[in-house]
Amino acid sequence: MSRVEPRVREQQVETGFCRARAPPAPQHRGSLRGHLPVPDPARVTSLLGQKRRSHLLKLPNRRRERAPSALPVDGCPADCVPLLQAAVKHLLPEIKPQDASKLCVVIDLDETLVHSSFKPVNNADFIIPVEIDGIMHQVYVLKRPHVDEFLQRMGELFECVLFTASLAKYADPVADLLDKWGAFRARLFRESCVFHRGNYVKDLSRLGRDLRRIIIVDNSPASYIFHPDNAVPVASWFDNMADTELLDLLPFFERLSKVEDVYAVLKKQRTNS
Ligand SMILES: [Mg+2]
Repeated sequence: MSRVEPRVREQQVETGFCRARAPPAPQHRGSLRGHLPVPDPARVTSLLGQKRRSHLLKLPNRRRERAPSALPVDGCPADCVPLLQAAVKHLLPEIKPQDASKLCVVIDLDETLVHSSFKPVNNADFIIPVEIDGIMHQVYVLKRPHVDEFLQRMGELFECVLFTASLAKYADPVADLLDKWGAFRARLFRESCVFHRGNYVKDLSRLGRDLRRIIIVDNSPASYIFHPDNAVPVASWFDNMADTELLDLLPFFERLSKVEDVYAVLKKQRTNS
């Protein structure tokens, strides 16, 4: 397939988040947004945490009609819609004794650890069958370079949680194959996000952990728009096999794992970058 410069592709992804002002996002070649071998692309693209308005239309009526001011979510803006409406106090279970002293790191999946596509690629690390509207489709998954070293070490240093806006029927089997070390103590999918102004937002205040001890690693700033001070941004990854982002981050996380409060360190990091 023809190559698109990484910088351009990142702009395409970011354009997708600027739903109100930006023109419709160009389809990324080879992504799950493009090359859809089914008659209803909107249903297929909804596998991933994309930001199309069509997703809002697909919310059940009871969610769309709920008065935002009545939403029982602490710290959530008035116009957000938590997708998981069950009376669950926290998204995460009690911390395990062996993780009690560790910071919690929330790690994104798509374009942070892997890139997936419906378009067949001959170097896919995994091929995940996913059923959509009664038809089985193959999702081709590429692992970001150094993701194995990254996950293994992160799982030793932190209480890691996979948090993705993608659907569990795709992301859960990917995580099964990707996480050979049990780094992810928990997995959170789209229904654990908050739908806010066209984006699936990961509301860290719902996790049930001290916010001063939570870090989110994500390629999408929209995902952590409620808690930008907890973020370690990463560049979006698609297919650059020379990428060293995850490897380069490890020394920083080694240092970060020893602090009591992440805010001062992350603020300093933002200032220096
Ligand atoms: Mg992502």
